[in-house]
Amino acid sequence: MYDQANIFARILRGEIPCKRVYETDHALAFHDIQPQAPVHVLVIPKGAYVSAQDFSATAPADAIAGFWRAVAETTALLGVIEPGFRLISNHGRDALQSVPHFHVHILAGKSLGVHLVP
Ligand code: 5GP
Repeated sequence: MYDQANIFARILRGEIPCKRVYETDHALAFHDIQPQAPVHVLVIPKGAYVSAQDFSATAPADAIAGFWRAVAETTALLGVIEPGFRLISNHGRDALQSVPHFHVHILAGKSLGVHLVP
């Protein structure tokens, strides 16, 4: 069940502020409040999807295409296509997903190392 009170739903409704990077009809990109790299931006779809699994399995094709096109436009705007960036999306308890609205982390701005898992 999607929780309409989650923090990203509240950001989408304009109830709490964010440092916006980019916005389309399908997605919103904004800076993470606790950056873990010199560039740490979150991209979220405007629809109500709990996680990557929910979004990928149930969203309509135009929402999926629009979301990923917005991710590409965000990395271009951030100027990180070269020398590179990392995309991460946490789903569920073992991945320590803390906000139950699908989001992709864009991490960049330094060499991010070889370890995906601490
Ligand atoms: P998760 O752990 O669910 O993959 O990532 C959630 C992310 O949302 C975390 O990196 C956290 O710092 C970020 N976050 C949590 N609350 C807020 C908020 O109110 N504003 C912004 N901009 N980021 C938030």
